[in-house]
Amino acid sequence: MSAGTQTPPGEAVPSCTGSKADLRAKAAAAGKGEVLDRYAADYPMGPHDQPQSMCPAFGSLRVGLRMRRTATVLSGSACCVYGLTFTSHFYGARRTVGYVPFDSETLVTGKLFEDLRDAVHQLADPGEVDAVVVINLCVPTASGVPLRLLPDVIDGVRIIGIDVPGFGVPTHAEAKDVLAGAMLAYARKEAEAGPVLAPRKGREDRPTVTLLGEMFPADPVILGRMLEPLGLAAGPAVPTREWRELYQALDCAAVAAIHPFYTASIRELQAAGRKVVGSAPVGAEGTAAWLDAIGDACGVPQAKVDGVKNGLVAATRGALAGAPIKGRVTVSGYEGSELLVARLLVESGADVRYVGSACPKTPWSAPDREWLEARGIPVQFRASLEQDIAAVDEYEPDLAIGTTPVVQHAKEKAIPALYFTNLISARPLMGPAGAGALAQVANAAMANKERFDAMKAFFEGVGTGDTAGIWEDTPKLRPEFRQKRLVQLRKRQKKTDKGVAAPPAERGF
Ligand code: SF4
Repeated sequence: MSAGTQTPPGEAVPSCTGSKADLRAKAAAAGKGEVLDRYAADYPMGPHDQPQSMCPAFGSLRVGLRMRRTATVLSGSACCVYGLTFTSHFYGARRTVGYVPFDSETLVTGKLFEDLRDAVHQLADPGEVDAVVVINLCVPTASGVPLRLLPDVIDGVRIIGIDVPGFGVPTHAEAKDVLAGAMLAYARKEAEAGPVLAPRKGREDRPTVTLLGEMFPADPVILGRMLEPLGLAAGPAVPTREWRELYQALDCAAVAAIHPFYTASIRELQAAGRKVVGSAPVGAEGTAAWLDAIGDACGVPQAKVDGVKNGLVAATRGALAGAPIKGRVTVSGYEGSELLVARLLVESGADVRYVGSACPKTPWSAPDREWLEARGIPVQFRASLEQDIAAVDEYEPDLAIGTTPVVQHAKEKAIPALYFTNLISARPLMGPAGAGALAQVANAAMANKERFDAMKAFFEGVGTGDTAGIWEDTPKLRPEFRQKRLVQLRKRQKKTDKGVAAPPAERGF
């Protein structure tokens, strides 16, 4: 064996169809215990403890693919890589995704690591790239492929190796933080060691506020306009779009954790001595509280903050009053901004009954959670799909905002529904602009109720689930067969892994 503590020859190669506990144990035995412990602390699990949406590695892949002069390489099973590249191109990557294939032999002999090292050397052309990112997926992580042994730098090109297994990182949102945090850690060391590149547009004279989270492109601009009268400027948004922006992100007066789950990134920014502020300027109350918190963190005199606040809060109240949302709404998603959307809905007049987020509870989501709970709105962190669907069933909202399966469930019940990612995250949320934009899409969806009712009536009686479609004889369900098979499967699983559920690959993508 040539590198690290990979699965020794003769031992079974971990497979992505193994149980989560099995994969974790194998990864820990293969030298990944420390990184998995860190993930467990950064991204606490429960009530659900495994991705219920896309493969989490997509978050890291997307961050790498959106950065200028950055090459991204996947190390994992071909089927996982197929799904990840497909999704990345579906989301408009327009960039090659590197892949180093492997088989059982190259995995156990350490040849895969050597192949990865060769690939990194080939890609590390300083004329082309600032950084090469290598992402270990489930099987190479469980096998202990030691990316930490890759060179740190080749001809000035930074090499960033990260493990992003589905059995260690619960959501793709948090996987964005895995890479953003690794990059900030690297950039911080560079900045501590000596001079670093200035921002492309030159250094900002005013103190800046670094923004955490992938936002609708107009939002950082709107935030910048809100900060300007305080004598502050919006810094880059993390994950950044370019390596040199990382230095600028670290060199800020304060950090606005707009998306509150960036735990590793926050650790790096705090290590650089920066204060972190949670929540965001959504709605009138959110805007007032956020400006106070930012002013405090950046040492802006309260009288100045109050002057700015009065104008912005009045403008936001005016926008909210001019764009009311009337109706019962449930909100669920996996992006980390669900609580902000719920706050804006409430201030717009909506009757929000449930907020579910696949992301965990963190100190930075506390202001929004407290605000919502004070109004009797339950907030479920690490919400499972089952909980989100149960909320739709229980509250029978006029509008369900959620992930694809939640929206599908709502539409089957003739409840107007909006995809969180495609329709809510694709609009501004902040300040007065946010109020009008959200109302437009929410009201348009609720106005469609009659069409949903008409469609439901039209398709009534065509069958659902196993009996959907056109049949000569109506199919007979055999629940007893299904039950028998379920018992067999449970017995088999108990034997191998004490009943822990398998990772998502086993259930389909
Ligand atoms: S097994 Fe699933 S979670 Fe793991 S890398 Fe493959 S697609 Fe992602």
